[in-house]
Amino acid sequence: SRTRLVMGNWKMHGSLAANAELLTGLRLGQADPAVEIAVCAPFPYMAQVSVALAGSHISWGAQDVSAHAQGAYTGEVSAAMLADFGCRWVLVGHSERRSMHGESSQLVAEKAVAALAGGLAPVVCVGETLAEQEAGQTAQIIEQQLAPVLALGAQALAKIVVAYEPVWAIGTGRTATPEQAQQVHAGIRASLAHAGAQQTRILYGGSVKASNAASLFAMGDIDGALVGGASLVAQEFLRIAAA
Ligand code: 13P
Repeated sequence: SRTRLVMGNWKMHGSLAANAELLTGLRLGQADPAVEIAVCAPFPYMAQVSVALAGSHISWGAQDVSAHAQGAYTGEVSAAMLADFGCRWVLVGHSERRSMHGESSQLVAEKAVAALAGGLAPVVCVGETLAEQEAGQTAQIIEQQLAPVLALGAQALAKIVVAYEPVWAIGTGRTATPEQAQQVHAGIRASLAHAGAQQTRILYGGSVKASNAASLFAMGDIDGALVGGASLVAQEFLRIAAA
C-alpha cells in the first residue's frame, strides 16, 4: 500500500525569519507519523531547513535541479549538492518551470535521471492548461508529458513520485473536483502499471486546502498532495496532512 505523502512547495516565498517560524510550527505540530510530510524550499534555505528539521519525521527537498551532474553551468544546482544538505526530494517539471522557463518533457525526464543519480527522489509534475482542458485534451497532454519519464523503466519509476497539477487549479482557488482529479490519476496509474510500476505515488496539486483535502484523499488513486500557498502556514499545512 502507498503511504500518504503531503508535500509543501514554498515556491519563491520565505525568509530566514519566516521559515524559522514555519519550520518550528511544523516540528511542534507534526501529527500522524503514518503520513509523510515534506517541504520543498528555495535553494538558499536548504541549510536552514536541514538544521531545523534534523531528527524530525519531516523530510525536505528542492524545487528544481540541474540535468547535469557538475561543470560549467552557471547558476545551476546539482542533485549531489542538494543531497549534501540532506534533501530527499526534488520537484521536476513544475508547470511554472515548463511555462516560464521553457522546460520540455524531455528535459524534465533528464532532470529526473540526474536527481536519481544524485540520490534524490524526483517529483515529476504534469498538468494541462485551461485551454487544453476545455479542448478535451487532458489525457493526451498528460500522456505526452509523462512519456519520456515512463521510458526510464520500472526501476526508476519505483523511486519517483508523480504530481498531477492542472495549471488552471494552481493558485486560482479553483481546485479540481475529486472526481476530475481521480479520473486523471487513474489514467496515470494505468500508464505507470503498463510501464511496470505498481507502487508509484501520485499526488494532486492545485488549490489544496484543509477544507478540500479530505474529499481528494478519499479517492482511490490520490496518494497525497503537493501544496503551494497553504503550505506557508504551519497549522493549515498540518491540517491538510491530517485530513
Ligand atoms: P497552490 O496550492 O498555491 O494552488 O499551488 C499548487 C502548486 O503549484 C504546488 O506545486
